[in-house]
Amino acid sequence: MNIHEYQAKAVLRAYGVAVPEGEVAFSAQEASVVAERFGGKAVVKAQIHAGGRGKAGGVKLAKSVEEVKAYAAEMLGMTLVTHQTGPEGKVVKRLLIEALSDIQKEYYIGVVVDRQTGSVVLMASEEGGMEIEEVAAHSPEKIFREVVDPAVGLRPFQARRLAYAIRIPAPLINKAAGFMMSLYRAFVDKDCSIAEINPLVVTRDGQVVALDAKLNFDSNALYRHPDIVALRDVDEEEPIEIEASKFDLTYIKLNGNIGCMVNGAGLAMATMDTIMHFGGEPANFLDVGGGASEEKVTAAFTIILSDPAVRGILVNIFGGIMKCDVIANGVVAAARQVGLDRPLVVRLEGTNVDLGKDILGKSGLPIVAADSLAEAAKKMVELVK
Ligand code: ADP
Ligand code: MG
Repeated sequence: MNIHEYQAKAVLRAYGVAVPEGEVAFSAQEASVVAERFGGKAVVKAQIHAGGRGKAGGVKLAKSVEEVKAYAAEMLGMTLVTHQTGPEGKVVKRLLIEALSDIQKEYYIGVVVDRQTGSVVLMASEEGGMEIEEVAAHSPEKIFREVVDPAVGLRPFQARRLAYAIRIPAPLINKAAGFMMSLYRAFVDKDCSIAEINPLVVTRDGQVVALDAKLNFDSNALYRHPDIVALRDVDEEEPIEIEASKFDLTYIKLNGNIGCMVNGAGLAMATMDTIMHFGGEPANFLDVGGGASEEKVTAAFTIILSDPAVRGILVNIFGGIMKCDVIANGVVAAARQVGLDRPLVVRLEGTNVDLGKDILGKSGLPIVAADSLAEAAKKMVELVK
């Protein structure tokens, strides 16, 4: 789960991470009230769940309250297109009005869960403000890492080593290291999957401050963080994904035109790979789970069909805990209910497979059966061509 920058900064502030003073505003009027506190010397920042706002006109520096008000009026309601929003962009509904920092230099600090080492890793670079992927591509030698031993946590010497590596000015090394220690504590405490501070800045008056903050949370741990769940902004999420979450379905919208309904995340990934292998492109990732009911299958099917980009559906089910006849009944019920207007290829295997195939065959629906995943994918790709 993702939250807004202003929310992330509030979470981090509670852990002692230095962030500029600021407040959220939902109107130009509110923005100017906040800006008055800073004598008008403020930054107006569009709050959307995407980065790259600076280059897209979503971050404006103002010198007076009037200027803040004008920028706020301009930004609210505007569709911001950054390289992270996709071409359709995101409508700006909230702003962060923040005190201007007198930047001396920008840096990068990221905390991630690294699969290779199976640990939390702190990454830092003196190339702040730039995309870390870009730095990794052009000057990988400028990215420094510290792997954290989960048993002891981030050690102060590691934080200092990182601060030296990215050439934080000597008098501020301890401040920067303290910043990293607090950031790490917040990351672990709140079960984050990513904490990215880009840029971290050193100011001319000797502060080490997070000018931007991005926090992502592990959704499997949200049950123990009601305070974080309360920060969810469904305006920023795909409506279709919200609908799916109501049925406890793991659904992620993608760019292709082949809708996929699969049980099990691994099988769903393999199904998408196989579709790609045969020249098609999946419209979604959908895992109906291990023990889905007929009702859940119907919901999944309806959700897939509600996406106008979907030109055909591929159902790939391995009946282990899930029985093939339950799936078949769900597919038939859903197809009748919503009206099957697009090609449907079904591959069933496992428990009660014959019963399942029988149900599909007798339904009278134009369902294309397949015995293997390769066959199913090949047929589907041809049908949507
Ligand atoms: P994004 O990453 O979405 O482009 P940032 O929050 O990183 O947005 O802001 C972009 C740039 O705007 C920063 O790199 C920094 O130079 C400037 N900026 C952001 N906040 C402030 C602030 N409080 N004071 C001064 N400059 C700021
Ligand atoms: Mg940034």
